[in-house]
Amino acid sequence: MESEKTQTQIRVLPESPVLDQTTWLELDQNALRHNLAQILSLTFPNAQIMAVVKANAYGHGLLEVAQCLRNKVSYFGVASIEEALVLRNAGIGTPILLFGVPMGGAIEKAIRAEVSLAVSSVEQAREISDEAQRLKKPAVIHIKVDTGMGRLGIPKSSAVPAIAKIASLEMLQLEGLFTHFPQAEEIADPFTGGQIRIFNQILEESAEKEIQFPYCHAANSTGVVNHPEAHFNLVRPGLSLYGIYPHSSLKPKLPLKPVLSWRARVILVKKLARGESAGYGRTFTADSETVIGIVPVGYSHGYPFSLSNKGTVLFRGKSYPVVGRVSMDYIAVNFGPYFSAVRAGDVVTLLGRDGESEISAETLAEKAGTIPYEIVTQLSPSIPRIIR
Ligand SMILES: *Cc1c(COP(=O)(O)O)cnc(C)c1O
Repeated sequence: MESEKTQTQIRVLPESPVLDQTTWLELDQNALRHNLAQILSLTFPNAQIMAVVKANAYGHGLLEVAQCLRNKVSYFGVASIEEALVLRNAGIGTPILLFGVPMGGAIEKAIRAEVSLAVSSVEQAREISDEAQRLKKPAVIHIKVDTGMGRLGIPKSSAVPAIAKIASLEMLQLEGLFTHFPQAEEIADPFTGGQIRIFNQILEESAEKEIQFPYCHAANSTGVVNHPEAHFNLVRPGLSLYGIYPHSSLKPKLPLKPVLSWRARVILVKKLARGESAGYGRTFTADSETVIGIVPVGYSHGYPFSLSNKGTVLFRGKSYPVVGRVSMDYIAVNFGPYFSAVRAGDVVTLLGRDGESEISAETLAEKAGTIPYEIVTQLSPSIPRIIR
């Protein structure tokens, strides 16, 4: 019902920036705050929150999300130095951890902007230490250990001696030790349990060498829900913050609200006669006269090509099929043979709620044969984001 209201508002307010737009994303700040509160209710009082805002805040809009969360979380997690600098240039002073491996000038940029760096090897730590000495400014680092992800991080077998070496380097402030889970979907999953044991052991052996870490962290969204023993004193939720479930098993334990709605206008309404086709490859042919609405959204905006002849959009609370191939900038929606209500300029929903109906990122992903992470991170940064 709420989105009905929003739609009317969008139509009647002449000053609305949305009027000029043919497609836009609406961000529900209250939903974002709700999701954060839900995550906090699972982790409080032991752990603080590092909000993961990599990949343009999972496609939601990096600055829009960070502005909303800046005073409510302890840390931001990003994947590239560019993302970190977008935050710093916007005056956001919240601590930021760069997950990736900084190459070339990125180390200097990070130290200057007071962005903490993840470290996966002694060599990387040396490079950072050298740069910090050159700049006469300490670098804040979080050492990552590979306890089973098999991606970034110091291999578990050599972690303790490597940590000791890193601790002996100049101008490095060892602020954190962390690891990452490849399959935390299952409660009491023995593999994740093993990772947590190894991580704890590395922490203990480091402590014996008098190396302490102010922050210890391991849990992504699934870890937050399924592995409280992995909360330590900081957790790193990503997808769940945006109200999307990485795995359906999390639903009963964590009530979330989707933050994002994706809307677009029908820009042209036309009739197809029986036997006429719509779109490239002529993969849809009308078997009787039908009303088609052209919506200016395609795979260049992040609407998956795999939803050709499979997707649906919502109009006034009802679902209508996407027919023909998804093209670069357009999809065709089949409103059926007798439909006369739809007009050019009308708003349809590609993702999100419209009245009683909803298209979630999870269902769209399932239809498209992908994961919700990919659906949202593919949303083009050029689509305007509007905060509600
Ligand atoms: C992406 C990422 C996360 C967040 O994962 P979600 O599954 O989205 O909660 C946490 N930690 C690291 C290191 C990541 O790269």
